[in-house]
Amino acid sequence: MNCCEKCFSDLYIVTKIVDNGEIGECNYCENEDVFIIPVDALTEYFERLFKHYGSTEPYEYFHPEIHPDPSEFGDSLINLINEDWNIFSFEIEGTGTDENMLFDILNADKMRDPLEYIDPHNLYSRITESFTFTHPLEGWEDIWERFKEELKHANRFFPSTQLTVFNNSFDDVLYNRTTYLAEGLTLYRARMGQQPIDKMMAPPSALAKAGRSNPHGISYLYCSIDEPTCVAEIRPWKGSKITVAQIELNKGLRVVNLLKGRLSPFLFDSPYKVLEVDKLLTYFSQELSTPVDPDKSEIEYLPTQFITELIKSKGFDGIMFKSAMGPQYNIVIFDEKNAEVKEIETLEVNNIIYEYDNE
Ligand SMILES: [Zn+2]
Repeated sequence: MNCCEKCFSDLYIVTKIVDNGEIGECNYCENEDVFIIPVDALTEYFERLFKHYGSTEPYEYFHPEIHPDPSEFGDSLINLINEDWNIFSFEIEGTGTDENMLFDILNADKMRDPLEYIDPHNLYSRITESFTFTHPLEGWEDIWERFKEELKHANRFFPSTQLTVFNNSFDDVLYNRTTYLAEGLTLYRARMGQQPIDKMMAPPSALAKAGRSNPHGISYLYCSIDEPTCVAEIRPWKGSKITVAQIELNKGLRVVNLLKGRLSPFLFDSPYKVLEVDKLLTYFSQELSTPVDPDKSEIEYLPTQFITELIKSKGFDGIMFKSAMGPQYNIVIFDEKNAEVKEIETLEVNNIIYEYDNE
């Protein structure tokens, strides 16, 4: 049996199928002339996914003092997987085809002991629901808060908590979030007032004010992927004139993408490693996209400046993160020589939309 690139949303699996290079007809979604792969070629990767779950008895993990609803415990494997990840394509998710394919893949290893047959009729639960489960980053909230406090109020350049926070798993986050931006990509950058074209790149180092990614005196080029985001980033007031530049990359860049979004469960053999790297990524992306009060920003920006400089020291050209102010995401380029202004326009801000929650 063959499945195809169109059966999946998970990029890791789609890449495996495309790299396989074989074209034909899919036995599951029935697409023709697509990249296909025999299901047993995916078994080793789906075994990684299966490690996130365990076979369970009805109510096995139900604890009336903690859990309000006993029916939550134990579900079909396909339901759990579809709730937790984005593996199957929209076309087959929830149709039953995804379930047939899942078990064909999992049980395709003919060398395996028949006793290890994975039964579609069993009930399953997440390993994280087990009473004995401890998260690999248990206590991380405290460690991260201690690091931020030390950086802000005790040791700025050689914080003693640095090695606890940025261990090998931090490198795994970077490695798995490396994104290539193509030469010629257009980005946007806004400044308050009517500016000449030669004043639209990064400010001179001596004038660089501290920002989310850069300390006072070190200048980076802050851009956004679209115009509305770069305008929102400079917090203009109604009626103000602003200048927006289109900035083009003059070479391909290797950046770290710290946008939130779950990791693929196929990346690591250990489910605990997936949970650990996923939690780190969530923390760093939250930190980068939380709005900071401009009046006390200098010290509040220290943790993100630290993360950014650490990433730069590992040879990356920039970082991407969700904008705290606008709808899309920002790209910070460390060396402005990698980009140039193509054109500028002056705009007047005629409306500002505020959204707020009642406290
Ligand atoms: Zn298919």
